[in-house]
Amino acid sequence: MSDASAEREGYDVAVVGGGPAGLAAAIALADAGASTALIARRAPYGDNRTTALLGGSVDFLQRLDVWRRCEDKAATLREMRLVDDTGRLIRAPEVKFSSEEIGLDTFGYNIENRVLMDALEERAAELANLIRFDDEAESVIHRDAHALVRIRQGRSLSAHLVVGADGRRSLCRKAAGIAVKRRDLNQAALTFNIAHARSHRSVSTEFHSPYGPCVFVPLPGDRSSVVWVTAPNEAERLMALSDDELSEAAERQSHSILGRVSVEPGRHLFPLAIEQPRQFAKGRIALVGEAAHVLPPIGAQGLNMGLRDAADIADIAREAMLQGEDPGSPQVLTRFDSARRSDVASRTFVIDMANRSLLSDFLPVQSLRAAGLHLIGAIGPLRRLAMREGLAPSWRPAPQFKETPAGPT
Ligand SMILES: Cc1cc2nc3c(=O)[nH]c(=O)nc-3n(C[C@H](O)[C@H](O)[C@H](O)COP(=O)(O)OP(=O)(O)OC[C@H]3O[C@@H](n4cnc5c(N)ncnc54)[C@H](O)[C@@H]3O)c2cc1C
Repeated sequence: MSDASAEREGYDVAVVGGGPAGLAAAIALADAGASTALIARRAPYGDNRTTALLGGSVDFLQRLDVWRRCEDKAATLREMRLVDDTGRLIRAPEVKFSSEEIGLDTFGYNIENRVLMDALEERAAELANLIRFDDEAESVIHRDAHALVRIRQGRSLSAHLVVGADGRRSLCRKAAGIAVKRRDLNQAALTFNIAHARSHRSVSTEFHSPYGPCVFVPLPGDRSSVVWVTAPNEAERLMALSDDELSEAAERQSHSILGRVSVEPGRHLFPLAIEQPRQFAKGRIALVGEAAHVLPPIGAQGLNMGLRDAADIADIAREAMLQGEDPGSPQVLTRFDSARRSDVASRTFVIDMANRSLLSDFLPVQSLRAAGLHLIGAIGPLRRLAMREGLAPSWRPAPQFKETPAGPT
C-alpha cells in the first residue's frame, strides 16, 4: 500500500473506513486487481473486543494472505455450550454443539480484534495498487459516470465504486440515500478478558440470563474473553466494579467452571441496537460491515457477515471488470444487493428472535424457547443443521478446516 503521495486522478474503487470490514474489503478489492483508495485514519484499535471467526471467515483471511500473520494468536473453538441460567420455572435443557459432530476439527477461532487489525494492516501495506489516505471522508457525491469522495484535507478523489465501510451512522449510507431501520435495545454489552485457573478446553460457554447471554470464549492459554449482555444499569454497575469485585462477579456468573478468575486490564461498554438498511447498495455506493448491519453480539455473527460482505463485493467487482463492466453501475450494485440480502435478513431475524425469546416474561414464549432448545439438543440432524447454519449460510461453500471423522448420528 502506498501513501496518498502516490495519489492519482481516479480509482476503480474507494473504500471509506478502516475497521476490520473496510480493511478486508480494501485488500480483497486490490487483490482482485482494482486500483483501490482506502480513506481511513491510522489509529490503534480502540477497544478489547474479540471475534469468534466462524465458517468461511478463516478461509477468506487465508485467501487474502492475512491469516498466517495472526493464527498463532487465535484460540480454537471446538465446542459451544448453551446453559439456561434464567432461574425461571420453565428452563431449557443445556445444549452442546461439538465441531466433531459435523466432521470439523474446529468451529472457528477466537481472536482479539486488535491482533486481527494488525495482520490486516500489515497485508494492506504490501499491496501496490492500494493507496492509503490517512484521513476521513467529508462528503461522497455520486454522479452518472463516477463518485467523488472529498476528504478532510480538502482534496477530492473519484472512483467508479465507493465501498462504505464507515460503521454505524455511515456517511456513505446517507450519501447513497439509503434509509435505515434502527431499534435501540434495552441492553448493553460489557467486554473484558480474564485469566483463569482451569483450562477452557476450547469450549465456549454461554450462560443465558433473563437480561441477555454472558459468554466466555476461549483465548490462547488459560484466558477467555467475556461478553456480558445485560440491562444497561447493571452493565454500568459491573463496569464500575474494582478488578477484584469484577473477577468475583465473573467467577460467580460462570458458576466457577473456569476456576478462579482474574480480570485483565481494560473493559468496554457497548449499548446494543439493531440496524437494518433498506438496501445494501445504491448510487455507486455499496455498504459493508456495520454500515450494512448492526446486531447484538449473540451467536458471533456481526464481523463474520462483514467479511462475507467484503468477499462478495470483491468477487462481484472483479467479475464485472473482467467483463469490461463499470464496477459501480446499477447492474453490478443490484448483484451485490441480492447477494447479501438473504444472508443479512435471515441472520438478523434469527438473532432478534433468539434475543426476544430470552428476554420475554411471557410464559408461552419461554415454553416455546425451551421446547426449541430441547428439540435441537435431542435431535441429531436438527442440531447438525443448526451448527452448519450458524457457521455460514448453507448456499455458501463449506469451511475448509481440517476434517475429522463425523461423530455418531
Ligand atoms: C461486544 C461485541 C462483541 C462482538 N463479538 C463478535 C464476534 O464474536 N463475532 C463477530 O463476527 N462479530 C462480533 N461483533 C461485531 C463486530 O465487532 C463488528 O461487526 C465489527 O467490529 C464491525 O466492523 P466494521 O469494520 O464494520 O466497523 P468499525 O470497526 O466501526 O469501523 C468503521 C471505521 O470507519 C471509520 N469511519 C467512520 N466514518 C468515517 C469517515 N467519514 N471517513 C473515514 N473513516 C470513517 C471509523 O473511524 C472506524 O474506524 C461484536 C460486537 C460487539 C459490540
